[in-house]
Amino acid sequence: MCGIFGIYGHKDAASLTYLGLYALQHRGEESVGIVSYDKKRVKQHQSMGLVNDAFDEKTLKSLKGSTALGHVRYSTTGSSTAKNIQPFLVKHKKGHIAIAHNGNITNAADICQEMEDAGSIFQTTMDSEIIVHLLAKLRYKDYKESLVDALSQLQGAFSVVMMLNGALIGARDSFGIRPLCLGKLDGAYVLASETCALDLIHAKYIRDIKPGEIVCIDKNGLKSIRLTNKTRSAHCIFEFIYFSRPDSDIYGENVYLTRKRLGAQLAKESPVKADIVMPIPDSGNYAALGFAEESGLPFEAGMIRNHYVGRTFIQPTQHIRDFRVRVKLNPIKNVLKGKRIVVVEDSIVRGTTSRSRVKTLREAGAKEIHMRVSCPPIISPCYYGIDFPTEKELIASKRTVRQIRDFVGLDSLKYISLDGMLESMLLPGDKFCTACFNRKYPTVLPKQFRKNILEGEK
Ligand code: 5GP
Ligand code: MG
Repeated sequence: MCGIFGIYGHKDAASLTYLGLYALQHRGEESVGIVSYDKKRVKQHQSMGLVNDAFDEKTLKSLKGSTALGHVRYSTTGSSTAKNIQPFLVKHKKGHIAIAHNGNITNAADICQEMEDAGSIFQTTMDSEIIVHLLAKLRYKDYKESLVDALSQLQGAFSVVMMLNGALIGARDSFGIRPLCLGKLDGAYVLASETCALDLIHAKYIRDIKPGEIVCIDKNGLKSIRLTNKTRSAHCIFEFIYFSRPDSDIYGENVYLTRKRLGAQLAKESPVKADIVMPIPDSGNYAALGFAEESGLPFEAGMIRNHYVGRTFIQPTQHIRDFRVRVKLNPIKNVLKGKRIVVVEDSIVRGTTSRSRVKTLREAGAKEIHMRVSCPPIISPCYYGIDFPTEKELIASKRTVRQIRDFVGLDSLKYISLDGMLESMLLPGDKFCTACFNRKYPTVLPKQFRKNILEGEK
């Protein structure tokens, strides 16, 4: 996963990009980069780590120009090194190309192989670099034609923001798998993964970029072109379940309200006799709120999250068991002691963190623990950018709900039904990608992935 942002035609382009990335930080904490364009000169700054640590006033001032784009990275393809920080920038015969990509190009290995056989040299291990190579090779007079040609060779998921010699481009794959929206600020156009980035800079939300649409923003204004006429929405539903920020609207729906509806649906489908409802914070918060409202049970914050825990930390001593889990979440004993509790969780992936959390809830004195999960069992990997492990590591791919209940150490475990989840959405169910729950992948998949799926179905 990743967060992308771009702006065209604003004197504070880089500073606004910095703020936009701040709002999108949850989409990737591994690395960050900004590229700006000023009268044919390109500036770039990039760093591993968080947005807040990567920039100071001096670096932001040095990123001159009225066009800028930025990226926060959560590595799913390509290793975690400084070489793979985006936006990816190259200078070639026709000028500068920079690209910030969210998603996962499933035929990347095939295209890469073909190009390397023909003499291309790749600098990174990112699938996004392929787009730049494809563009650089093409010889159309109008850059828009090159874009259509290059992007139509890709399969899988891509929401991209690009800069071609100062023009800003936004594009989405023909299924619209990852989000991308368009906004306006003081006459400048803005592109962002989520609307929370527009809110922060006071930009007005205009609309989502459509599946299979390319918008080209240059001195002539905004022009929308089609990548293909064969489009069908297959938006990633996991953006609602877990990934996007609750204050964002994605695919035209608010994430917070959607999570509450998922929780209410869970309460209708799988009620439970209990004393309190609590979330596993933060990702379970709003589904738990919806569950509590619908069930009439009191909502309690039974666990408190420490917000200062980074992505990596050292285990200072072996003395503390489950250190990773404990450092992040601490149960409130006085709230839990002797209580029958409903714990609402947004998803179970491997089951290992859930198991540790449930153990700490037991140690805090909970009498009964009933878990309710606001998405169905995840049985198949995501090939479009969500960081799900291989089929083997997904606990629901090889265990029944009862077995998972016992593994996690619960008195009862229920997941929302697939239909119930889809009914909680405002868009019709067939507008979503639900492949991680039912193996119905919307795009063509290369042979090696298809093999995994067939094996999973056995
Ligand atoms: P598990 O019990 O499967 O080990 O972990 C479940 C937890 O992982 C849930 O609290 C859920 O919010 C979180 N989770 C789900 N998807 C992702 C993801 O893509 N990245 C990260 N870091 N956490 C995730
Ligand atoms: Mg969570």
